[in-house]
Amino acid sequence: MSAKIGASAAEMAQALAAGETTSVELTQAHLERIEAVDGGLNAFLHVASESALADAAASDERRRAGQLSSNLDGVPVAVKDVLTTTGMPTTCGSKILQGWIPPYDATVVARLKAGGLPILGKTNMDEFAMGSSTEHSAYGPTRNPWDLDRIPGGSGGGSAAAVAAFEAPLALGTDTGGSIRQPGAVTGTVGVKPTYGGISRYGLVAMANSLDQVGPVTRTVLDSALLHELIGGHDQLDSTSIDKPLPGLVTAAQQGALGDLSGLRIGVIKELQGEGYQHGVLARFNEAVDLLVDAGAQRVEVSCPSFTHALAAYYLIMPSEASSNLARFDAMRYGMRISPEGIADPSAEQVMRATRDAGFGDEVKRRIILGTYALSTGYYDAYYGQAQRIRTLITRDFNAAFDKADVLVSPTSPTTAFKIGEKLDDPLSMYLQDVATIPANLAGVPGMSLPSGVADEDGLPTGLQILAPAMADDRLYLVGAALEAMLEAQWGGSLLANAPSAPTGMGGQS
Ligand code: GLN
Repeated sequence: MSAKIGASAAEMAQALAAGETTSVELTQAHLERIEAVDGGLNAFLHVASESALADAAASDERRRAGQLSSNLDGVPVAVKDVLTTTGMPTTCGSKILQGWIPPYDATVVARLKAGGLPILGKTNMDEFAMGSSTEHSAYGPTRNPWDLDRIPGGSGGGSAAAVAAFEAPLALGTDTGGSIRQPGAVTGTVGVKPTYGGISRYGLVAMANSLDQVGPVTRTVLDSALLHELIGGHDQLDSTSIDKPLPGLVTAAQQGALGDLSGLRIGVIKELQGEGYQHGVLARFNEAVDLLVDAGAQRVEVSCPSFTHALAAYYLIMPSEASSNLARFDAMRYGMRISPEGIADPSAEQVMRATRDAGFGDEVKRRIILGTYALSTGYYDAYYGQAQRIRTLITRDFNAAFDKADVLVSPTSPTTAFKIGEKLDDPLSMYLQDVATIPANLAGVPGMSLPSGVADEDGLPTGLQILAPAMADDRLYLVGAALEAMLEAQWGGSLLANAPSAPTGMGGQS
């Protein structure tokens, strides 16, 4: 059983092609793994066993008929619960949407289905994607497969934990300020936030429209490239979708794996290291940069001074957009509706107030209040307007840095996974987890996090972030695959293969 679930998605696709396994067998193996380990992890909010097995049987049927829908046809996938799915609940980790079954599929979900990937279920997340630990889910926290007392990152901790624990070979995440990359870093998985507009947002329940992006969560760089190519590209249902073909991502990953980076300039961002970064995180980062240089890349130092204001700008822009997006949860259209106690004939406004009070958690309320305040007359210019100006400066810093370097690198997150509960009462220190990931969202440029090793002091995984200019997502895959190949040669296999979350650990089947 472990051979089946331990492989990469690309290897699973090969095994299917070679007739060594079937999609039903693969899907069944993952469902059994979920059954065995998810009680401890809480990575899934909904497991769709029946429809996944039916999809798998249909895939096997297509294979017999020689009519495959994509090169991942038959390989199962998990989907973050912020993406709409027909026939499956979509809760966004919130009580307010408990039991809501959307009438349409997100474009990315439709593309998974069109590609023939059985959907295993929906993964846990911080409520409305607000958080860095998945502790803000109304359905209980997800735990990190490396250490069940620790957080798996957020907001997409469910997708990252599911992939790290071999419950799914592939998952979809969303990244508004780091929610794919930071969970990737703290669980030892690969995660990509594509260029803004590179992947459709249609059916992604909006937190902050100008920042949100869907992206792949996988165990290898090549798997992310395969998934990214399948779900990416223009969508006329999303007005911000870029009407240009994606660059060749799979080709870039394959070329990168050959390990030759000569001629490539790697920019190390001065502002994203040093104070506040854990020792082991920096040590693994610096060693990884040395490896890139060994592969022929040229190291250059770049400075992006306005990045020091990115977190502040983000925590005005994001809540402003979120406060207006979340106004749609008004007890009339979707999900929960609560009648206030002791009022015989409540008005719409009273029902709305009671529902929003009971349906939203503290973090969501905090951000709605912050966003509403920042947008109010008299304050707009002082807060939102200033934040937008910083956003422009950040884009300029990126442009200047990309004049000097083809890609930029930094640690993905300043620390490894912290303990559950450790930062819950300290929102600011939680927000700081995303200090290195947020600039990319503000500028719309693509970023990848991939495992760079484990920190000596705690044995927990840490990640390296690669950033590229908009629409040059292929560079992430080129550099990521090169680094992954060199690191795996050192480790004697992938980081996760030797992790406590490997199929032999955690009480799953071996
Ligand atoms: N952790 C960040 C926040 O809480 C980013 C969230 C995200 O990317 N969805 O806003």
